[in-house]
Amino acid sequence: MCVFCKIIAGEIPSTKVYEDEEMIVIKDIEPKAKCHYLCIPKEHFALLAEMDDERAEIVKHCLAKLPMLRKELGLENGYRLVINQGEDAGQTVHHLHIHVLGGETLPW
Ligand code: 5GP
Ligand code: ZN
Repeated sequence: MCVFCKIIAGEIPSTKVYEDEEMIVIKDIEPKAKCHYLCIPKEHFALLAEMDDERAEIVKHCLAKLPMLRKELGLENGYRLVINQGEDAGQTVHHLHIHVLGGETLPW
């Protein structure tokens, strides 16, 4: 089982800020911004290239839900979403996840 599947199963502790049937949102263990969350679909797949209709619905759900969480996540002034895909992007966990960065003016 991958590290995010273990987090979803409750086998590895995390700071969970939101959960529903499709996804969890946790704090990144090594934050790269003042606010750094990971939005993780509960279904395990690594890459957007592995998308099918069902997975597209899950990603759509994540993207639609995140703006609703802005206030409680401290992201009212804006935020950045990042999805690393593969080696050149530095993807280290091969379970699709959306980085959510904000809480300050981000570089670049
Ligand atoms: P990637 O480089 O794959 O896009 O991002 C993986 C992210 O997961 C990294 O920012 C890393 O800090 C985070 N991460 C890795 N292991 C854990 C963990 O056990 N708990 C939490 N909360 N974040 C993790
Ligand atoms: Zn997984």
